[in-house]
Amino acid sequence: MKKIIIAIDGYSACGKSSTAKAVAKALNYNYIDTGAMYRCVTLYFLENHIELTNPKLIAKALDEIEITFHINEKTGANETYLNGLNVEDKIREMEISQNVSQVSAIKEVRVALVSQQQKMGKSKGVVLDGRDIGTVVFADADLKIFMNADFDVRAERRQKELFDKDNLVNLDIVKENLRKRDKIDSTREESPLKKAEDAIDVDTTHFTLEEQVEEIVQLALGKMSV
Ligand code: C5P
Repeated sequence: MKKIIIAIDGYSACGKSSTAKAVAKALNYNYIDTGAMYRCVTLYFLENHIELTNPKLIAKALDEIEITFHINEKTGANETYLNGLNVEDKIREMEISQNVSQVSAIKEVRVALVSQQQKMGKSKGVVLDGRDIGTVVFADADLKIFMNADFDVRAERRQKELFDKDNLVNLDIVKENLRKRDKIDSTREESPLKKAEDAIDVDTTHFTLEEQVEEIVQLALGKMSV
């Protein structure tokens, strides 16, 4: 069967990562969580007090950042490492969510990460999720999905995800963060979040994770057998 690139884009917290991970597992493909990469850069910028308006400091910081993904032997989960340290839990905290869209709107940050993502995915057999995968990173991806879900459902899912990691966050704060990120992500100048013309809409509001995964796996098998 032909190896393909699967691009999954969409708004925050509509189930992209969980779906992309499970699709990759079902097809024995690699999974690249591009949001985790922007979250790593945000963590580094916050910890090192990098001013978002100082291009020199930004360029230097980007040179110092190495992001890798490793499978946790015990749980089988794909975990994110920043300069050799496991930051999987840290990058999901609210402080990062509250700053990531401002960092990811910076041109230099996008240029650096898009180039890494293209290298990571070039041998195909890969599922990537993010905001600009089908429009910029792999505009020629074989299968493009644009995911969405009802706003309240997205907020409740995100609150539960945080709670499962011992972060109890008020639902109004989660909603405010999703609204703000969606706005910045879809109105920024550099590769804003938008549906690629040839992307297939998948609304996950009334779907279980298993149903979402099955739908995308079937679409992928169709493309892989062409
Ligand atoms: O997917 P996740 O919610 O973890 O992404 C965090 C943030 O990273 C998004 O809100 C967006 O600002 C940024 N992002 C991006 N382009 C991508 C993936 C994520 O700008 N391809």
